[in-house]
Amino acid sequence: MVRVAALLLAAGCLSCLAGPSSARCLRGSRGVAVAGRGPNRRVARQAPASPKYDAAFITQYLATTYERDASAACNHAITAEWEYITDLTNSTKEAIYNEASLSLAAFEKEQWDEYFQNLDPEEYEDPVVRRQVEFLLSLGVSALDEQELKDLNTYELRMQNVYSTAKICPYRKQRCDLGKEGYELDPEIESVMAKSRDYDELAYTWKAWHDASGKHMRQDYKNYVALQNKAAVANDFENMGHMWQAGFETDYFYEDMQDLWDQVFPLYEALHTFVRRRLRAFYGDKMGEEDGLIPAHILGNMWGQSWINVYDLVEPFPNASSYDVTKALMEQGYNPLRMFRKSDEFYTSMGLQSSNMSYGPKAVIEKPRGREIICHGSAWDFCDRKDFRIKMCTKVNQDDFRTIHHEMGHIQYYLQYKNQPYMLRSGANPGFHEAIGDTIALSVDNPKHLKAIGLLKNYEDSDESSINALMKMALEKVAFLPFGLLVDMWRWDVFAGNVTESEWNRHWWLLREDIQGLRAPVSRSEEDFDPGAKFHVPGSYQYISYFVADILQFQLYRALCIEAGEYRPDDPTSPPLHKCDFYNSKEAGAKFSKGMALGASVHWSEALETLTGETELNATALLEYFEPLHRFLREANGDLEAEASPVSEDDASSAATTATTTAATLALLLLSILNRYL
Ligand SMILES: [Zn+2]
Repeated sequence: MVRVAALLLAAGCLSCLAGPSSARCLRGSRGVAVAGRGPNRRVARQAPASPKYDAAFITQYLATTYERDASAACNHAITAEWEYITDLTNSTKEAIYNEASLSLAAFEKEQWDEYFQNLDPEEYEDPVVRRQVEFLLSLGVSALDEQELKDLNTYELRMQNVYSTAKICPYRKQRCDLGKEGYELDPEIESVMAKSRDYDELAYTWKAWHDASGKHMRQDYKNYVALQNKAAVANDFENMGHMWQAGFETDYFYEDMQDLWDQVFPLYEALHTFVRRRLRAFYGDKMGEEDGLIPAHILGNMWGQSWINVYDLVEPFPNASSYDVTKALMEQGYNPLRMFRKSDEFYTSMGLQSSNMSYGPKAVIEKPRGREIICHGSAWDFCDRKDFRIKMCTKVNQDDFRTIHHEMGHIQYYLQYKNQPYMLRSGANPGFHEAIGDTIALSVDNPKHLKAIGLLKNYEDSDESSINALMKMALEKVAFLPFGLLVDMWRWDVFAGNVTESEWNRHWWLLREDIQGLRAPVSRSEEDFDPGAKFHVPGSYQYISYFVADILQFQLYRALCIEAGEYRPDDPTSPPLHKCDFYNSKEAGAKFSKGMALGASVHWSEALETLTGETELNATALLEYFEPLHRFLREANGDLEAEASPVSEDDASSAATTATTTAATLALLLLSILNRYL
């Protein structure tokens, strides 16, 4: 994920991708009024008074004084935040960071009061200046008064602190000394969730984590929601959910998200059915009644958002080749630094810029000893056009190898748009930043490329090994889609007051069951606050960006593959999309660079057109990529159904009915939720 000023109340400094609390985000594209009946429009506002300064003055001011002062204020705040986030228990750093956040908020507010509040974008002929003016009209959370800002900061920090320092006792010693024997999320708890195949140990660990994290945040979250909404109203939005969505500058945002989900739903459903049956074959009656849902704790991941860790249980063709990059990385003596260098080498092979400063001495690429740190990987832009850093507790495995390429994508984007004005140094929309590095990772993480860089030996390419490789990718990318959608659906409902606080947790599980098809492993109540057990909720990071990015990255990948001559969509003799590798392709690199360099200076549809020739998001590339797997899944699921199953025919047909009903319910529920906003 991109580094956000999640905690920064007034960050005029980071990418818009950044957290919702990041003020440039809030001041930026999120503030742009959008027409149409989408929910993210601003509410009617009285005609503004005449601006104090004319267009010529503001144009000059933005290019000189504001550029200098805003960059410096941002740099100061980000530096203080970095110091604190990489040393969480240091109270001096915490105080400095709090102070820096407030002073940045004060700076933004002063500027807005004096120069920006009454500007009229129509007076600006230069589209790039006009866009900055549009962004500057919105003040973001800096619109709150000082005490409210302090309070909001306190709630956010406290929730993040609970999340980052939560520990649990191991399954085999459930009464333990937490200080000495407690498990942290990263690495111990995540490792249990990934590797254990003991149903009860997984259920215990799942529950213990939710008890230790989300459960302690409910009151703070309630206060956080109230203040976030207050800030949104001060910016002429109905609530913070609407303000977040405005960052996409799309009139029909809900319809667009709904349409994308509709496109990918049949593929997700086929994958879900296949995996559910394999898991049932392994866990048997432990899984409870067959209701078409999968218990959320047995998918190899705390949130069921990636299923790659249960690949061994669902491998389509155990006798065909498969690949295990973790083993190869270990055998070849890779360490974190070497993994970063390898990633940098991919980017530069395309003629893109080296990001070597981002994993140099100022960065954190391994978990430090002796201090607490938020381990969740992030990429930071220090607003001075030269300091960019990665923070990541890297482990030597395939997952982290992929994450490195993801984080390096953020850095590459920062580098590409660093010459844009301060207000436009940001992604084209909140999904673009998350998609860049993943696009590269799609090219890296396929057998052809891994072979080329020596990480894959004795691999036999066949139709069956291709299905195995696609399954691995689907367990990450397809499995993620509903989760990527529902986290913010829950928050939009919370911000809008569509669900009362007394039903927050129930609503979370309604969405998880109906969209993701997962059910809670143990009974839940309103004593629990399960959304808080996911980093991005206490962290106040927008999540729908990941859903958008999950789809967008395949669009970008397909375009770069075509540019590199690795894929010819209209030629039946072309290799399939999933076998493309644009390593070393300067043509693909040039195209990528041109689109990234635009930053937020144009509407995202223009950036998309530069990158792909298309102007709209769509899932056709994703579906093209997974087409062979989808065919396999349909056949396998159908075959399984047709097979005389161990149960009677009646049972088999009722199971089939359940599956169909679940799918229909899913679609209906989704429609009803989305339509609520229309
Ligand atoms: Zn990211």
